[in-house]
Amino acid sequence: MSIAIYPGSFDPVTLGHLNIIKRASCCFDKVIVCVMINASKRGLFTPEERVDMLRRATERFDNVEVDFSDELLASYAKRRGAHVVVKGLRAVSDFEQEFQMAVTNRKLNPDLETMFLASSEKYTYLSSTVVKELARYGADLTDFVPREIIDEVNTRIQQKMQERKGN
Ligand code: ADP
Repeated sequence: MSIAIYPGSFDPVTLGHLNIIKRASCCFDKVIVCVMINASKRGLFTPEERVDMLRRATERFDNVEVDFSDELLASYAKRRGAHVVVKGLRAVSDFEQEFQMAVTNRKLNPDLETMFLASSEKYTYLSSTVVKELARYGADLTDFVPREIIDEVNTRIQQKMQERKGN
């Protein structure tokens, strides 16, 4: 069985992420979308909340599983029996860091290949950071995040803004 892992922060999941998940699900028997912690990014949502939002957004894909891990990706992949890491590439700016990570992961786990899917042109500009910025200004998020999570993103951003005002 071909198993691929799609790792990321997913804080929150966007339509760009969902596009990669959908395309990867056509290429592999199983895709594990794994929420991983990026120490350099402070999250808006907890890992459990991100997993929950991803599960709701990917419910229709039979061969997609959502998980959370605080392990090294190379070790996680070995434990889950996955030989492929899927990554989305938006622009040249993504390339350098992704290339470095791909080489490092293969050094740590020689059975692990990284495959890049070119972002759909509709979503090359889209990131979780852009979504959070738009939500701060009350923009309509319909074209940016799965509809299942729109209310949650808006509510959390409003909460954060209120907290900041209170401080
Ligand atoms: P972000 O940069 O949005 O915080 P993540 O760390 O969650 O993203 O990214 C996880 C993976 O998804 C990475 O491989 C990233 O390049 C990819 N990705 C993020 N946004 C998009 C998009 N709009 N189109 C294609 N791939 C994307």
